Amino acid sequence: MSIHRTHGIVLRSRKFRESSKIVVFFSRRYGKISAIAKGSLKPKSKFGSSLELFTRSSLIFYKKENRDLHTLSHSEALNANEEIRKDVVKLAYASAAGEMVERLVPNEEPNETLYELLDAVLKQISLAERPHLELILASYTLKMLHAVGYGPQLDSCVRCGKDLADEVWFGLHSGGALCPACHNQDLHAMEMRRETLELMGKFQSVSMARLRETSKADEFSREAADILYAFVRAQISEGAKIRSLDFLERMRDSSLA
Ligand SMILES: [Zn+2]
Repeated sequence: MSIHRTHGIVLRSRKFRESSKIVVFFSRRYGKISAIAKGSLKPKSKFGSSLELFTRSSLIFYKKENRDLHTLSHSEALNANEEIRKDVVKLAYASAAGEMVERLVPNEEPNETLYELLDAVLKQISLAERPHLELILASYTLKMLHAVGYGPQLDSCVRCGKDLADEVWFGLHSGGALCPACHNQDLHAMEMRRETLELMGKFQSVSMARLRETSKADEFSREAADILYAFVRAQISEGAKIRSLDFLERMRDSSLA
């Protein structure tokens, strides 16, 4: 057994036995980890509010070699992100952000860029007005795809390399933008407008904070979001679900969000 210190964001937790919880964190140094927090459901637990969903905490845990479940010995909240838990719509967006990470990365694979992105998207979701949530999540989705090595090629046709004109498709299986001559070669090509392609370029180059301050949601942000979510689904194993993303889209389409 060895002792480790890191910062981590709570992705989810479940009750374990009478008074404990098993918590899944995305941590800065170790990636996605699971730890048991013994006694954390008791009143006056030493863990306080540090294990609330989407809280960022400093952690000390004991790691058992060749085991997936470790033992949390100490945690202290650094950033509660409480605005997210107060608003069901923000909670839906944050849950989708967290679950996409969970589905795309294996356990205990460190990825500090991804940790920083997750921290940043939760902060922006906390601060954002509702109309900006979709832009923030879509921008995060593209940045996250790059951080895990699935970043789509958008500056020229991913198949033939030609410059893109007004007619553009996004090839879910090709991994990027397609020109009119190539789109038929990808059975899962989605047509998109030139403006949507340009917006995706902005998602990649502009920070989420700046995007929240300077952009407004419109039909192109919706189209970009739909394409990027479909692309994430194309990367996970067939039949696997990203339930919170499914939920988010149903909620959005029923115009609650
Ligand atoms: Zn082409």
